[in-house]
Amino acid sequence: MGMDRYDLVVIGGGPGGYPGAIRASQLGLRVALVEASRLGGECTNYGCIPTKAMIRPANILWSLRSMGFVKGNLDLAFDEYMEWVSSITNRISGGVEMLLKGYGVDLYRVRDLRDPLGVLKDILETVLRAYRDAGIIHGDLSPYNIMVTRDHDSERCYVIDWPQWIRAGDEKGLEILRRDLRYMAEFFSKKYGLGIDPEDLFARVVGSDGR
Ligand SMILES: Cc1cc2nc3c(=O)[nH]c(=O)nc-3n(C[C@H](O)[C@H](O)[C@H](O)COP(=O)(O)OP(=O)(O)OC[C@H]3O[C@@H](n4cnc5c(N)ncnc54)[C@H](O)[C@@H]3O)c2cc1C
Repeated sequence: MGMDRYDLVVIGGGPGGYPGAIRASQLGLRVALVEASRLGGECTNYGCIPTKAMIRPANILWSLRSMGFVKGNLDLAFDEYMEWVSSITNRISGGVEMLLKGYGVDLYRVRDLRDPLGVLKDILETVLRAYRDAGIIHGDLSPYNIMVTRDHDSERCYVIDWPQWIRAGDEKGLEILRRDLRYMAEFFSKKYGLGIDPEDLFARVVGSDGR
């Protein structure tokens, strides 16, 4: 975001985020919206809209079949059908972008990490310090709870959203820590092909002495 200053930064351009950003801009605030994936959020891209687009033709087909007008196996052009569904979600997602721009909301896309291994090491260091020095476990670690800032070539990361933290000595503490680290390992392995073993992360945080 460089040197820009905003009254409001909205994280996420779903049905919650983008109308809020537009309204704030209409009320005179200087607003930025940051989207990690596709504008329109779950509703536009994976939820309400595509399901409705799929349900209607399916209902028509079901009715025709139950009335006896469609018999036997149907040769559905499934790829074309899904392309048609995507064309609808793409159009709406693009419309959200136009709306945001039209109302003067600055849009920022989350870019890929330059140094994913370095970011993972930072995350691990935070988790380790929290566990060993503060005696707490995040409890809801996910890619959405990591903020990364970039200054020229260097990336710094912050683990956010700690209200659900639990004590390291909690009965379920180690199980939850293991789950937190598994989510991280899965994300970095899937997205950046790092091939991280979650148990390796767990051992680094907990230590070989089981602390
Ligand atoms: C199959 C299905 C059908 C549905 N049908 C309906 C329906 O008919 N009617 C209805 O009212 N609701 C329906 N829903 C629910 C609806 O999709 C959600 O209630 C709605 O999308 C929630 O909006 P939101 O803005 O809170 O979150 P989301 O839509 O999840 O949007 C959050 C956005 O934030 C982005 N984001 C998250 N974290 C970050 C980050 N750290 N940095 C940057 N960006 C980030 C995400 O990429 C996403 O675009 C359906 C859901 C599903 C799964």
